[in-house]
Amino acid sequence: MGHLVLVASPFQGHMTPMLQLGSVLHSKGFSITLAHTKLNSPDPSNHPEIEFLSLDDNFLAIDASANFTKFLEVLNDNCRLQLQDRLNRKIQEAKEDMTAIIHDNIMYSVEEVARNLNVPSIVLRSSSASYMPAFLALPKLHAQGQLPVQDYMREKIVPELYPLRYKDLPFNSTSTKVIKEMFAQSEIIRTPSAIIWNTMEFLENSALTKLREHYKVPIFAIGPLNETARYTSTSFLKEDTNCISWLDKQAPRSVIYVSLGSLATMEEHELAETAWGLANSNQPFLWVVRPGSVKGSEWIEFLPEGFVDEVRGRGLVLKWAPQKQVLAHSAVGGFWSHCGWNSTLESISQGVPMICRPFLGDQFVNCRYLSYVWRVGLELEYLERRVIMTVIRRLLVDEEGEEIRKRANNVKEKAKYCLCKGGSSFNSLNNLVEFILASYSNFT
Ligand code: UDP
Repeated sequence: MGHLVLVASPFQGHMTPMLQLGSVLHSKGFSITLAHTKLNSPDPSNHPEIEFLSLDDNFLAIDASANFTKFLEVLNDNCRLQLQDRLNRKIQEAKEDMTAIIHDNIMYSVEEVARNLNVPSIVLRSSSASYMPAFLALPKLHAQGQLPVQDYMREKIVPELYPLRYKDLPFNSTSTKVIKEMFAQSEIIRTPSAIIWNTMEFLENSALTKLREHYKVPIFAIGPLNETARYTSTSFLKEDTNCISWLDKQAPRSVIYVSLGSLATMEEHELAETAWGLANSNQPFLWVVRPGSVKGSEWIEFLPEGFVDEVRGRGLVLKWAPQKQVLAHSAVGGFWSHCGWNSTLESISQGVPMICRPFLGDQFVNCRYLSYVWRVGLELEYLERRVIMTVIRRLLVDEEGEEIRKRANNVKEKAKYCLCKGGSSFNSLNNLVEFILASYSNFT
């Protein structure tokens, strides 16, 4: 059918949907090569249908608190020429044409590689669509002096971005200089042939409409990819599957699953508030604390004294969970999440209601949509033990939680329908395949 080169970036939340997209497009008949950095490389044994191409990036780790725009600049510089060289060689050796290159939006330099190789370039966006109009509005808000957001403005609605409040804006406390740099970088992405969005029309129709007007190229909403792709682990960290037998022993819908994704960090006092909030809720909990995610610690050495005894038999703390399996487990009654887009889609796909506590970027927008628009989650406003205990009980014990669960199940059913024959994502995926084949013949 054709050969697609996918170019991933070294972030868990971006790698996962790229691998899923590779698996989905392979099932449509394409052969797939996935180029990735050595830093955070995927495990090829989990993806036998994909050929992997590893690029030297010269990075040892990602530091979420460091200068992100600089990181992306170096990443793109390090990968661009190597990728072009490797793909040129591959074409010559295999005497095989390349049908298109699909790249992560932050690997913006790949557009130039595609131009040089004379193939169409398509972008994969792994954030929510609703985040983008807010991101695109930042320069204007900044020019009006509204960024970084002042305390007295936080609860007010941003007039042109209803229902977002100023505090829901992505990068709402980021410095002016960094916002300018981010925009300069996002302008580098100029002429993709199309954009693939890991979302669903019914969920984000209004944002998708705005984005189609803005980008003026076809946008294919083919999500949720976590449901279409063959199930396999896409994690960089080792998944601790022992938690599944622990979940087997818990009552249906009784457990609160807590995970803040691959990048979020917390202070020692926030760890203590979370620990006591969970303990005082009296509900069983499964809590992912990523090694190094508590500032200044290796893992959980800062857990408050007395906590382990207090929750013995009722709670499990682990380093990394098989999240999709956890969310599919009947014992899980709620998901306290940082509202990363993959976690959001995974939760929605299983009808698990959420507690929303965003940390960075698009997560603030996702939190607002989850809690206020789709109404499948409760916003956790303060990381304080009493507030945490209350919100967990509202979700898992109170009648309010039952109502939220009903809505979550309703969204789950609609998401399923999108993927069935005739559903919007099903159709979009077929349209994407046709688009790729047609663009290729126009290029050659
Ligand atoms: N994840 C996981 N186990 C964990 C925590 C997270 O497998 O213990 C996965 C989760 O299923 C999701 C991804 O890591 O697919 C995190 O992506 P997301 O977009 O939610 O957040 P990010 O890590 O980008 O902040």
